[in-house]
This record gives sequence, structure tokens and C-alpha cells, in this order.
Amino acid sequence: MTSAISIHDLHVSYYGNEAVKGVSLSVEAGKLVGIIGPNGAGKSTFLKAMLNLIPKDKGEIKVLGRPIKEVRKKIAYVPQRNDIDWDFPITVLDTVLIGTYPHLKVFQRPKKKEKEWAIQCLERVGMQEFSKRQIGELSGGQQQRVFLARALAQKADLFFLDEPFVGVDASSEETIVNILKEICNQNKTVIVVHHDLSKANDYFDELILLNKELISYGTVKEVFQPGVIEKAYKGQFAFMKEIGVTI
Ligand code: ADP
Repeated sequence: MTSAISIHDLHVSYYGNEAVKGVSLSVEAGKLVGIIGPNGAGKSTFLKAMLNLIPKDKGEIKVLGRPIKEVRKKIAYVPQRNDIDWDFPITVLDTVLIGTYPHLKVFQRPKKKEKEWAIQCLERVGMQEFSKRQIGELSGGQQQRVFLARALAQKADLFFLDEPFVGVDASSEETIVNILKEICNQNKTVIVVHHDLSKANDYFDELILLNKELISYGTVKEVFQPGVIEKAYKGQFAFMKEIGVTI
């Protein structure tokens, strides 16, 4: 069976400093996977390198068994909120419509069919009433819902989200998690950078624990082991207690 993602010996550095060192793993389709690790562990770097958004020093990345550039259309990416220009003058509906572009022919503009689909995606995230609003006029949770709607509009097979719950209200967080779970139930794969471990058990099937190197990859139970977590978080004992790991 082909893995959704397989990575072999991935190395990424910035100005000679290695941020990701020799990571190899493969993720099966249909999994909801969290990328966890302390601040500066290389989580975002790892995500961006998987998507070929930043250059890698070395390593092989296959998505659905093929090089990423051949399967771009099948991949949806929701960047960190900080990476988005919220002053950009674009409405909620037009933002979601961008998700339909990969399925349009060259120079073809979205038509009625695409608009209807974009509205359905907005309905799914509970944001249909806001379709005419500028994206800068929304709360953090609403903005994140709109970007999830854009990803849904793309009809992707793989979804990558970078810290989707930062600055997001509890109700939006719940909506987003439920939709991510539904996506996985359709045998699609979701990879989420997530720094707050307290809910990892409720949210994810599997965890990738990074601290530049791959410390562990497995089910939440497999990764939430004292020796394993300690290796990544190097003695942040108060934090470990918080997530229920005793040493
Ligand atoms: P995390 O997402 O786990 O917090 P990052 O992937 O953002 O970690 O960062 C990993 C390391 O790479 C950090 O030391 C960070 O300072 C550095 N880094 C990240 N982005 C850049 C960049 N654009 N230029 C230089 N260094 C960077």
C-alpha cells in the first residue's frame, strides 16, 4: 500500500544552522497526525519542507508515492495566521474561491458552479453569513475557519495546517477539530503543527515528536511515554505533569 507521505533523511538548515536533522518517516492515509515539540524544534520548518515551500539540504519526500510537484493539486495548506496578510483587500468568498483555482483550466475564472461549491464549504465551517466581509474584519477563529473552508474547496487528499488553534476561540477550535476528523474518516490525511499538548490525546491519532531530530513517531500513547517526552522537552517537568506524564 502506498503511504500518504514518506520522508527519507530530510535535512533543512537556515544559514548553516540545522533546523531539521535526518528525519525519516511515513504516514498512512486516513490519519490525523500532530507535529509536536518545544519552541524552535523545527515543527514549522519540517511542515514547510515537506511541502517544498522552503529548500531542503538533503532528503527525499514522496506524497502519494510521487514527487510533490506532481501532486500539488491534491495538497491543501493552511499557513500560520502570522504568515497571512490580513490587510489584503479580499472578501471571505473570494478567499475560499482561491481553493477552486487548481481545478480550473488556464485563464478560466471561477463560475457559478465554483461559487456554489465555495458557499457549501463556508456552510460547513459555519461562515456562510460572512461571505461578503473582508478577511481582516474577522476574529482569529473566524479567519481560521475561512482558511479551512478554502482548503476544503480544493478537494485535496492531504491537508497541512500550521498551528491552526493559535488565537482561536474554543467554539472555532471544536468546529475545526471535528471537520479535521471527518476529513480523515474519508481516508484523507491531515498533518497539524500543534504546540499545546494538553488536548493531543483527544485530537490526534498519531504524533510526530520533533526536536530537530525525530524523537518519536507513533500513536499518542506510544509517544506520551516519560522517557520519550523527556528527551524532546529536556526536563520541562511541570509541563510533563500537565499533560499527565509522570516520571
Ligand atoms: P517551531 O515551529 O518548532 O517553533 P521553527 O521551524 O519555526 O520551529 O524554527 C526552527 C529553528 O529555525 C528555530 O531556531 C528558528 O529560529 C529557525 N528559523 C525558522 N525560520 C527561520 C528563517 N526564516 N530564517 C532563519 N532561521 C529560521
